Amino acid sequence: MKNTAATNTRASNGNGFPVSGKTDPLPANTAFCIDSLPRIGNGFDVHTLAPGLPFFLGGIRIKHSKGCVAHSDGDCLLHALCDAMLGALALGDIGKHFPDTSDEYKGIDSKILLKKTYQLIRKAGYRPGNVDCTVCLQAPKISDKIAKMREVIAGILEMTPGTVSIKATTTERLGFVGREEGVATYATVLLYPEV
Ligand SMILES: [Zn+2]
Repeated sequence: MKNTAATNTRASNGNGFPVSGKTDPLPANTAFCIDSLPRIGNGFDVHTLAPGLPFFLGGIRIKHSKGCVAHSDGDCLLHALCDAMLGALALGDIGKHFPDTSDEYKGIDSKILLKKTYQLIRKAGYRPGNVDCTVCLQAPKISDKIAKMREVIAGILEMTPGTVSIKATTTERLGFVGREEGVATYATVLLYPEV
C-alpha cells in the first residue's frame, strides 16, 4: 500500500517522527512508513584537559590531576551520547538545546542534560535500543570505572547495563589525546519507535 497523506495518519514534524498537534504527511512516493523504523545516530565530543579541574566522565567523577575545560561539568562521554540521540532524530545538537552561552547550564551536571535529552526522545515516541561509546583518553586508565559508568547511563536512559557499551582506548601517545591535552568520545545509539 502506498503511504500517502490519506493513509499516513500519524502526525509528523517532517523528520519522520510524530509531534502532537502538527501534521506533515510523508511524500506520496514513500514506499514505507519511516515512523515505524529504528533510527541510528552518532555523536562526537572533545574537551581540553587542564590541571586542577574535577574530571567527570560517563556520569561519574574520576580522580585525576586534570579535568575538562567546559561551560558545563565537561562530561565528554555524556555529551557525545546526547548528540548521538539528538542526531538519530535529526533534532540538531547539544549546543542547540543547551547553549554554552546560557547561565542556566553553567557548571551543570551533564547527567541532567542526558536526562533532558532522553525526555525529548521519549516525547518524540522513541526509546534507546543500545548504546556504544568509545572514549579516547591517554590517562588515567578508566577500565575499572566502566561498569559504574554503564550502570549510571543505563539508569538515566531506563535501559539495562547490558545494552550500554563503553570502550576506552589510548591513541598510542599520538595527537592531543596522546599528549594528555584532551579527551575525545565517539557515541553511537540506536533508537526504536515505541508501539
Ligand atoms: Zn562537551
